[in-house]
Amino acid sequence: MAWNNAEKIKKRGIVLRNVPTKGNDAMITAIGEGGVFSFFARGVRKLPSKNGAGCTELCLSNFVLSESLDGLLTLSEAASEALLYSDKSLESSICASLLAEAALKLFSEPGEENNPKMFHFFESCLRGIKDSDKPLAYAFLGMCKMLVYAGIGLDVGECVICGKKTGIIAISYPDGGFVCQDCASDLGASKTPVMQLKMLRFGFKCEEQDLPRADFPAPDCIALLIQLADYLNAQTGINLSGMKLLRTI
Ligand SMILES: [Zn+2]
Repeated sequence: MAWNNAEKIKKRGIVLRNVPTKGNDAMITAIGEGGVFSFFARGVRKLPSKNGAGCTELCLSNFVLSESLDGLLTLSEAASEALLYSDKSLESSICASLLAEAALKLFSEPGEENNPKMFHFFESCLRGIKDSDKPLAYAFLGMCKMLVYAGIGLDVGECVICGKKTGIIAISYPDGGFVCQDCASDLGASKTPVMQLKMLRFGFKCEEQDLPRADFPAPDCIALLIQLADYLNAQTGINLSGMKLLRTI
């Protein structure tokens, strides 16, 4: 067998984080069909650098990486395919950063089970945030789906206490889903606005092809994103720093 300590690996992914290290180098973390991966990128912060654009945060790129014997990945080439980030509005930049932060914190654990569908859904949400005039709706739907893939999706098909499908009036986060009128009064849970119940049902049930149909009022998107972030924190201890900016919208 030939001695080869620099086998080339091709990966396509979206850059979630670009952390400068010494000199002009950086550590890059990206998400692709196979999940989150990290690599060392030498000289990418030097201007001009042929790989710099492809290592920009929220850039969808095709990477050529070499793996050393100790398993560390190093960048050989980064070809930018599309920048899935726009600063055309404060809303869209906050929404894109928030989803990237959530993906990074939810799916970075080694051995994390990953699903190519998750990556494609995430990519579609970022495109929606960038190109549509409803970035908050796409951020909300992206957050719902990430919770599903992280195994903490809410049950929006029936009352989580008694199983009844009718008379749903509230979401109970501590119980993990919808509750009916009778159970809500037993729990002392207050009513959730009807629009927000509809949004949660759509958010936890929709597929990628349903995304363009989503058109929700911005204040409801913000209210639910705040609730979902609190729910995520209660379930996992993860704190999304991007929520601070979202609250200023
Ligand atoms: Zn019930």
